[in-house]
Amino acid sequence: MVERKPAPARTAGMPAVGGARGAAMAAKSRAAKAPAAPTPAASAVQARASAATAGGGGMASERARGALAARLRAAGIRDDRVLDAIATIPRHLFVEPGLSSQAYEDAALPIGHQQTISKPSVVARMIELLRDGLGADEPLERVLEIGTGCGYQAAVLSLVAREVFSIERIRPLHEQAKANLRPLRVPNLRLHYGDGMLGLPQAAPFSSIILAAAGMEVPQALLEQLAIGGRLIAPVAVPPSAGGPGQTVTQQLLLIERRNRHRFHRTALEAVFFVPLKSGTI
Ligand code: SAH
Repeated sequence: MVERKPAPARTAGMPAVGGARGAAMAAKSRAAKAPAAPTPAASAVQARASAATAGGGGMASERARGALAARLRAAGIRDDRVLDAIATIPRHLFVEPGLSSQAYEDAALPIGHQQTISKPSVVARMIELLRDGLGADEPLERVLEIGTGCGYQAAVLSLVAREVFSIERIRPLHEQAKANLRPLRVPNLRLHYGDGMLGLPQAAPFSSIILAAAGMEVPQALLEQLAIGGRLIAPVAVPPSAGGPGQTVTQQLLLIERRNRHRFHRTALEAVFFVPLKSGTI
């Protein structure tokens, strides 16, 4: 899915969004709740990630992950907790064996069913935007991901958040994600099969919501399930005229901060390219 347009988006794509951030207050209240981390869950997954890749190629994969994290840092990702998570999760476990040699390139790769594993820089960028204002030892609280796909981003999220819920609408992908995640035995991640456009009312509200597929707009149900002070990050379609003449921008990242019951502050960010958000399940 996820693929940022290569070069221009890279520079245009890493502004210190929220640098001055009026969300400082929200960040503070989030921070106040958070004790020192890494969470026990994160430490356990870290250990199992090493175990899962021990033996054949384990060291090579660990080096490749470290190199990927270093490249993302050079490209402008600043959040150490996110970079550590990228350096920890063995991305090759989430792609088919024939593609594992490409697993540590910063590229989206096919995962079947016309879907893709997201590009690592986009995963990192979106999670960093959710975490804006949190220190390396402060996890996100309760995160909802729409579009589990192969489960890679969910695994990354599990290392930077206290609790993660992820929904996928294509059953074979939901099953594949479960299988991919099994060796990591991530204790703070719940996978759901269903239509993510409806959210997960039984587990709401969420302090963070992240969409891995692009809709025309952010579904109302998700806005309702966002906690006050929470943040939602989503790719959304841009109407053709908005890009201006000669522009081919068709999607952009949208950051939504919920200020109170009725007020949602929206910030439009860089151009992106994601698979479409679709309703219903298959
Ligand atoms: N998060 C993935 C990216 C998956 S691609 C990663 O870690 O790389 C986006 C996924 O969103 C696809 O698997 C697609 O089936 C799913 N999707 C699209 N619309 C959805 C919806 N309404 N509910 C749940 N999943 C959806």
